[in-house]
Amino acid sequence: MTTNNEHVHCLIIGSGPAGYTAAIYAARANLKPVLYQGIQPGGQLTITTEVENYPGYPDGIQGPEMMVDFEKQAKRMGTDIRYGLATEVDFSASPFKVQIDEEKWIEADAVIVSTGASAQWLGLESEQRLNGYGVSACAVCDGFFFKEKEVGIVGGGDTAAEEALYLSKICKVVHMFVRRDQFRASKIMQDRVLNTSNIKVYWNTEVQEILGDDKVEAVKIINNKTKETREIPVSACFVAIGHKPNSEILKGWLDMDESGYVKTLPGSTKTNIQGIFVAGDLQDRIYRQAVTAAGSGCMAALDAERYLSLMEHNVSSMNVEKNIAQ
Ligand code: NDP
Repeated sequence: MTTNNEHVHCLIIGSGPAGYTAAIYAARANLKPVLYQGIQPGGQLTITTEVENYPGYPDGIQGPEMMVDFEKQAKRMGTDIRYGLATEVDFSASPFKVQIDEEKWIEADAVIVSTGASAQWLGLESEQRLNGYGVSACAVCDGFFFKEKEVGIVGGGDTAAEEALYLSKICKVVHMFVRRDQFRASKIMQDRVLNTSNIKVYWNTEVQEILGDDKVEAVKIINNKTKETREIPVSACFVAIGHKPNSEILKGWLDMDESGYVKTLPGSTKTNIQGIFVAGDLQDRIYRQAVTAAGSGCMAALDAERYLSLMEHNVSSMNVEKNIAQ
């Protein structure tokens, strides 16, 4: 580690709705935030198409465009926005240290981490190619575009069950592909799925290919017991096989649950280390919406501001005491 590290007052890692909202609030509170965007500036919303459920956009907006708006607003308030990936942290003492792009170290009085979570994908070429054109990892975001259509969903956990139920209220038929002969979802969710007449469950079934040139037209499935393959015409294929929080570099420093989501003190964005705050999907396995991420970004900036003013107050009281003693 070099000794002439750059020092910043408030460092924000991540550029999704949580990071940019934290930046807007932190900049307005004069915390002089520096924000590192990470590998995918704008986060998960940059791989979605239209966003219709973010308040304030009555006609909807494209995900990437919305994130450009977030960035512009954070910049206009005075955030120093930089391209770079946080590759290591050292939270052993304040000022906290964060390594960028495996070379440069930054020291910060407070850190807001909002590195998000990434959807797990099947790993098919066609899945990547048709992402945003019928392939989606968020039924709440994109289900509406397939009103009255037949859609597919992959997965057998609580997320898949919840999303299948959500889609069943909008779509004509939901074809649900489960790779084993049983769900992983909780019993109550299983019962709800099995009792919904327009959800058709395919057991022991894997999606081999998503078919379509410029939009999803069908999925090719295989029964992994009989090896029988079939094509099911669908207008969309939702992948709900889990999310992975981007918390790798925080391991060993911040308390996490068994899946790697960072734990916060109830009703706050505070972690087990004073001065380190987390916001967005990194700490939220349940809601995972742009608007909830933005809300927690705001909370993180307010928590950081309170923490920093308390620190400054303590330091100036100590200086007064020192002066009196001299
Ligand atoms: P899970 O890990 O619980 O389930 C993932 C599902 O996807 C499993 O059925 C798994 O199959 C399947 N899967 C994984 N990889 C593949 C693949 N390559 N191809 C096909 N299928 C695959 O993830 P969830 O996102 O569903 O849930 C995460 C956590 O969040 C859980 O603890 C869950 O209970 C919780 N949750 C709670 C909710 C609530 O309480 N309302 C709502 C949503 C989530 P297999 O079983 O064979 O491994």
